[in-house]
Amino acid sequence: MSTQKGSLSINSENIFPIIKKWLYSDHDIFYRELVSNGCDAITKLKKLDIMGEYSIPEDTEFKIEVRVNQELKTITITDNGIGMTADEVNEYINQIAFSGAAAFLEQYKDKTNEDQIIGHFGLGFYSAFMVADKVTIDTLSYKEGSKPVHWECDGGTEFEMGEGEKTTVGTEIVLYLNEDSYEFSNEYRAREVLTKYCSFMPVDIFLINENAKPEEKDSAVEATDSTEDSVESPEEEKEVKPVPINEKNPLWNKHPNDCTDDEYKDFYRKVFHDYKEPLFWIHLNMDYPFNLKGILYFPKLNNEYDTLEGTIKLYNNQVFIADNIKEVIPEFLLLLKGVIDCPDLPLNVSRSALQNDGFVKKISDYITKKVADKLSGMFKTDKENYEKYWDDINPFIKFGCLKDEKFAEKMNDFIIFKDLSGKYLTLSECLEENKERHENTIFYVTNETEQSQYINMFKEENINAVILNHNIDAPFITHLEQKNEGVKFVRIDADLSSVFKEEVSEDELKDISEKLTDLFKKELKNDKLEIKVDKLKNEHISSMITVNEESRRMQDMMKAYGMTGMDPSMFGPTGETLILNANNTLVKYLLEHPDSDKADILCNQLYDLALISLRPLSPEQMTGFIARSNEILQLLVQE
Ligand code: ADP
Ligand code: MG
Repeated sequence: MSTQKGSLSINSENIFPIIKKWLYSDHDIFYRELVSNGCDAITKLKKLDIMGEYSIPEDTEFKIEVRVNQELKTITITDNGIGMTADEVNEYINQIAFSGAAAFLEQYKDKTNEDQIIGHFGLGFYSAFMVADKVTIDTLSYKEGSKPVHWECDGGTEFEMGEGEKTTVGTEIVLYLNEDSYEFSNEYRAREVLTKYCSFMPVDIFLINENAKPEEKDSAVEATDSTEDSVESPEEEKEVKPVPINEKNPLWNKHPNDCTDDEYKDFYRKVFHDYKEPLFWIHLNMDYPFNLKGILYFPKLNNEYDTLEGTIKLYNNQVFIADNIKEVIPEFLLLLKGVIDCPDLPLNVSRSALQNDGFVKKISDYITKKVADKLSGMFKTDKENYEKYWDDINPFIKFGCLKDEKFAEKMNDFIIFKDLSGKYLTLSECLEENKERHENTIFYVTNETEQSQYINMFKEENINAVILNHNIDAPFITHLEQKNEGVKFVRIDADLSSVFKEEVSEDELKDISEKLTDLFKKELKNDKLEIKVDKLKNEHISSMITVNEESRRMQDMMKAYGMTGMDPSMFGPTGETLILNANNTLVKYLLEHPDSDKADILCNQLYDLALISLRPLSPEQMTGFIARSNEILQLLVQE
């Protein structure tokens, strides 16, 4: 074959700069493209063997070698797959790729970089030019009588093709890295990228550092017993067996019945580097109407401050595509950790096209349904574990209900609430319990420490409350109230139920109420304070504060929007009311001795005590409280 020169000018000379800039936002993706091409080439050869069109030689070990050379700044990727004839190089590399490039240019010339393209337009090979100034191909086709082909292109508009020297079937691609991309010839960087994209590709992949001294080379290999077998292994690697960087048969491809718990846990640890064991998992395995496999893990949260942030890795035929593609995976599932492999996914399109793709929506719905099925199944058949996991999984489920109508419907009967005694109740069970005394009301606690005073009162009167202490609970209860007409969630400190009070006529309270209100406003130097006098059954309670449910929700929302530090009264009344118990001896004393010189100390101390049982005091309040407490103790010793 004579040396052939050709022009790549189909799409004008600026194709390469454009590919470099726009093809993929992550330049490291060239590793994925070239290694996956090698995998494809090997898969094709195996298929030909099965179809009887080719016979794989006995001692063939299919593999892909990635050789990095930091001194020469080269990367060499070799496969022993199908190879290419000169005609094929012409067709697949010189022509097809460029028609793909044409389509690509057409569609993306005006787009911004945000619109990252997933997959390619038959341009995978050309991603090499994002990192290389020059690329060479040496290839020998499996076809009998084929001649080796050498191709090279320096990233301009010209390529050169001629007879090569390759003696074994397969393809070798060498990248001469450009100045900005030398990092990719570093062994550690290469390993990092290969692990990211190629961990589950279906052919053994080996990374070799050509600069490593012989003893260093050993570090990348695993010693094995020197058996007779090793005589057959390639030249210098006689007594050592290199370790591939990938796992050829990922767990998600196995049938769920054949997987053990340990395998699931190992896989989780390896892929997500999470030392905590997952709570449980869902193995997705679907062939019809589309092909989808995967494993979704419910991670264990460390504590309530743990951010809810998972990772769902998306694969296409064992080739890593990207993390957390919102278009395919329902947003709330991104809180989980997992892998999804969907070979049918249309990848030749941009993200924005994915959004409007009906097929993608079906995938997303299917995954949602599977997750809801698993959870409801667990509730019905394994309630003990469901309750055990609830603290960890409830933020996730609640978030799902807020985000996804269908999921919310499916989960409706399987939302549970932990009550004051640690028991779990469904919404209807809670309502049933309160039917007699507080119809349609559910009391809740957001902070067991801060609200302990109220909790004790509730327990004494045998009124139940549920614990809702996660950030997600505030929007979630609003959601429940909208879904269940008439039902109200009321924080335990929002109002004093008549259960706690003695029955007295308004008239009876009116007089003392006025006196105490005037006194407290004067002593606390606070005109705005809402004060209410009641006769509580429990005479040990002197004072306490209630916070109106609506006002408090409003305040909480403001805080959530980061408006802290502003004067809360800017957003309307704080909703706080100081309750004074007319049955308490201290309050009675004040009523009888409003002019006492101790009134000041008493009023202020009672107010602070009420505040303390609601929330931590501000620094100034705390200083005042401590000084006053000392003064009170002083009075004790003076007697
Ligand atoms: P795609 O993989 O999407 O087809 P690529 O640009 O990655 O697009 O590759 C174009 C074509 O070049 C492939 O379809 C294949 O026919 C051929 N090819 C690329 N790399 C190899 C290889 N290592 N061995 C054999 N053929 C290859
Ligand atoms: Mg490809």
